Parts: sequence; structure tokens; C-alpha cells
Amino acid sequence: KISYYNGEFKRDNEISVDYNDRAFYFGDGVYEVVRVYDNEFFTLEEHMDRLVRSASEIEINGLDREKLIDIITELKEQNSIKNGSIYIQVSRGINPRNHAYPAGAEPVILAYMNEMARPSHQMDNGVEVITANDYRWLKCHVKSLNLLANVMEKERAVRAGAHETLLHRDGVVTEGSSTNVFIVSDGVLRTHPANHLILNGITRQEVLKIAEAQGLEYAEKAFTLEELKSADEVFITSTTQEVTPVSHVDGEKVGDGAKGRITQKIQEEFDQRIHELNLV
Ligand code: PMP
Repeated sequence: KISYYNGEFKRDNEISVDYNDRAFYFGDGVYEVVRVYDNEFFTLEEHMDRLVRSASEIEINGLDREKLIDIITELKEQNSIKNGSIYIQVSRGINPRNHAYPAGAEPVILAYMNEMARPSHQMDNGVEVITANDYRWLKCHVKSLNLLANVMEKERAVRAGAHETLLHRDGVVTEGSSTNVFIVSDGVLRTHPANHLILNGITRQEVLKIAEAQGLEYAEKAFTLEELKSADEVFITSTTQEVTPVSHVDGEKVGDGAKGRITQKIQEEFDQRIHELNLV
């Protein structure tokens, strides 16, 4: 496999990462995961816009968006992977450990591609989730490398035999450890507004576009744990998990536990958008 680090494409086993890369010491950087379906990027522009925006939010300025696109395009071409995902991260740079920004450090880019199938089983059968307190910082809209709370909360789910942990602040549901979350109650689709308390997922935005296009009633309005637990349908979204129904919340069934009608409709429309990639 060919990957990219700090200016060079190399075989994976020939890449050595500098231990003074601030990504290591501080998680001082930002990242994106972009899906490739049938050799085509899905929502590439949206991911690249968010990457540049996340970087500027933490004062990594002057990224060359076209260069970032060139790097991942070359990765896609050099690795003959038809269906996969590309990870790209930008760190503040390489410098001996010191909290303050290093003067004159150049951002360092790491990127690689993995083969990845669509998560069909979970998209059909749903997943179980648990809930936990959201104690993360107040810049969750930045797609930062600093994922310690997210990692610990995902592990909480794994230990409970579940798939994801949905987070809440004082009983108000924000998002999952690596997903956004939607509910359907009385036919209305709801998700947390895109503010500093959540990452505004690209998949979340696609779902909202689908809702708009399909004339579904929807609101970017936060909901409580109680509303989550009494919802008719619940689903989570992300680049890799697409639109995945939630069958159980904290061990209790959502509806009758099967995929809901609106979830199904959104999945079908999402699928349509993926297939349209190769028709244009
Ligand atoms: N929230 C968090 C905290 C995430 O890590 C992710 C996935 N990176 C998402 C939401 C979903 O975002 P996207 O749909 O852009 O993958």
C-alpha cells in the first residue's frame, strides 16, 4: 500500500513518522475521512471545505486546498482500491515539544487509503447504543485529532456490548462518539443544531438535504434523553457508517426494534446519491 507523509508517497513500511510531529504530543491538528465508492470520491468538496475550516479554527492557516485534493487523488490512483476510505490529517508541524505554537513550522500532512465495504449488515439490522455524559471541550465543531474523550466513550460502548455511545449535556443529546444522531417522533425528523457542541457531519448534512428534497418534516432542534428513548425511530450517521438504524438505547427497544419507515426512506435516497456518482 502507498501512503503519504510529510511530502512523500512511500510504501507503508517505508514511512517513518517524526516523533516531534505535534500530532503525537498534543493531537495538535485536524483530519478528515473521505469515502470512495466505485473509484469515485463521495462529497469530496464538503470534506475538503471542512478540513480547511477546522484548520483555520485552530489557527493552522494558509492550507493549499488544491494540494490536499491532489494528494488524496494520487493516493486513490496509486492504490488500486475500488471501495474504500481515505484518511487525511494536517498537524501544526514538527518541532521539539513545547506547548506554544512553533514559529515558522510548516503543517505536516499524513494520508492513507483503506479498503472498506459498506456496512450492509448494520444498515439492515441496526445497532445497540448506550448513553453517557458529554464532558468534551466546547469546540466540538472542529474535527480535531484530539479524540481522547471520544475514544474513552467508544470503549464504554464496546464494554457494554454496544456499538456506539450517544452523548448528552445535562440530558440534552448532542451526538455519538463518532457519529451524529437523529430521531423521528410523530413523523418529524430531528437532530442537534450545528453549533460548537457537535461536529457538523457531512452525512448529517446529506440527510438534511434528503429530508428537504423529499418533503420530510425536519428540525435542527436538540432533543432530550427522554425524547431519544421514546422516539419512534433513531439512527446514527457518519461517513463510514452511512445511515445506521439504532435498535436499542440503553437496552430498551426503539419502537419495535426494527428499522423504521423514515430511516428506510433516507437510506434509499442516500444510496441513490452514491449511485449517481457514477452516472454523471
Ligand atoms: N461526530 C463526530 C464526533 C465524529 O467523529 C464524526 C465522524 N468523523 C461524525 C460526527 C460524523 O461526521 P461525518 O458524517 O462527516 O463522517
